Amino acid sequence: MSDSGVGLLVALLGLAVGSFLNVCIHRLPRGASVIAPGSRCPDCRQPIRWFDNVPVASYVVLRARCRACRAPISPAYPLVEVTTAALFLVQFQVLGLQPLLVARLLFTAAMIVLFVVDLRHHVLPNVVTLPGIAVGLTCSVGLEPGWFDAWLGAAGGGGLLLGIAKAYAAVRGREGLGLGDVKMLAMIGAFLGLPLACVTLAWASLLGAAIGIGMMRIAGVGWQHPLPLGSFLALAAVAASLAGEPFLDWYSVATGGLLHRFLG
Ligand SMILES: [Zn+2]
Repeated sequence: MSDSGVGLLVALLGLAVGSFLNVCIHRLPRGASVIAPGSRCPDCRQPIRWFDNVPVASYVVLRARCRACRAPISPAYPLVEVTTAALFLVQFQVLGLQPLLVARLLFTAAMIVLFVVDLRHHVLPNVVTLPGIAVGLTCSVGLEPGWFDAWLGAAGGGGLLLGIAKAYAAVRGREGLGLGDVKMLAMIGAFLGLPLACVTLAWASLLGAAIGIGMMRIAGVGWQHPLPLGSFLALAAVAASLAGEPFLDWYSVATGGLLHRFLG
């Protein structure tokens, strides 16, 4: 099969997985099963039939309304499906068809769920992060970054954020970071290894700081809403899985060059 043929299949897979991720995003924070019962309209509880449950297409055909009660359907549903398909396709473009792609698609799917759930509910469900750590460690036995670096990444990533959380709590006298963030960075380390977990934390912090400052400018001084670090970690982790390696190469050359200039 041609590359574009496989790419099309990967994108279609992304749409189908995205549809399942919507179920996870909706039910996991409520502690509900993601398997049963089947999809229902959140307004009228009417079961959604298969032909009204086709990713993106049904949303367009139904003009964003439930067939039974005409309640509006959130654009978040097709948005999650399209985003999943797009990110799956990008992962395929970067990696090609190889076993690591399977691990990276699982990782990407988990990051999408954590991104939306943390943004909406300010929680990072254990039911995603803890099995996520286990899956990451298992995948890394035969794949990048290798089992040793995966354990180092999980322990180092989680430990680093735990240390920051403890230090913050000691200095400020209140909790600033949750254990959910700690488990999430451990999961990222298990999939990507310690260097990319550090890149993820650095990028997430920069993004969080930029958005935090922007929000304070807009909402005025004294803006105290907690920013969802997990959502920033999710964005940064997907970026790091795609571009983290070349970034680290560039970074070491750039800083190595600077060091040379200072020392030489
Ligand atoms: Zn309805």
